Amino acid sequence: MRSEAARLQTFQDRSHAWPAHRIVATPEQMSQAGLYYLGVRDRVKCWYCNGGLQNWARFDNPWFEHAKWFRTCEYLLQKKGPEFVVNVFNRFPNLDRPTVINSAVPGTGSCRLRTNSHKCLTQENSEENWKGEQMQKCKRLHL
Ligand SMILES: [Zn+2]
Repeated sequence: MRSEAARLQTFQDRSHAWPAHRIVATPEQMSQAGLYYLGVRDRVKCWYCNGGLQNWARFDNPWFEHAKWFRTCEYLLQKKGPEFVVNVFNRFPNLDRPTVINSAVPGTGSCRLRTNSHKCLTQENSEENWKGEQMQKCKRLHL
């Protein structure tokens, strides 16, 4: 998923249905922002920071959401610059963001992010985990 073309391809796979009709941001814009489609609902992930996003609103901007939730992503910082990222962050200072940790948490495989109020889905990425009200409300998709 390092290449933008590969990420774009995930949105165009016709066996999956990216909900383009209700999201203004185009697959091109999504893939430019480092995101690729997981093939389920509107769930995407960043190829670099592994940050996941879902529950896209009609006018959500991919770079904006990337910066809002995953401000430490090096790909984001390189492409958009720290000023953009800091500006977005400052608009949502109290968001319950995942905490980036340096090494994998024992028992969570390759998980690099964790948060106090959301369950890590690295090993339990079953549909059951998506039925909880809290997960439905949360934009962040943590795999
Ligand atoms: Zn990222």
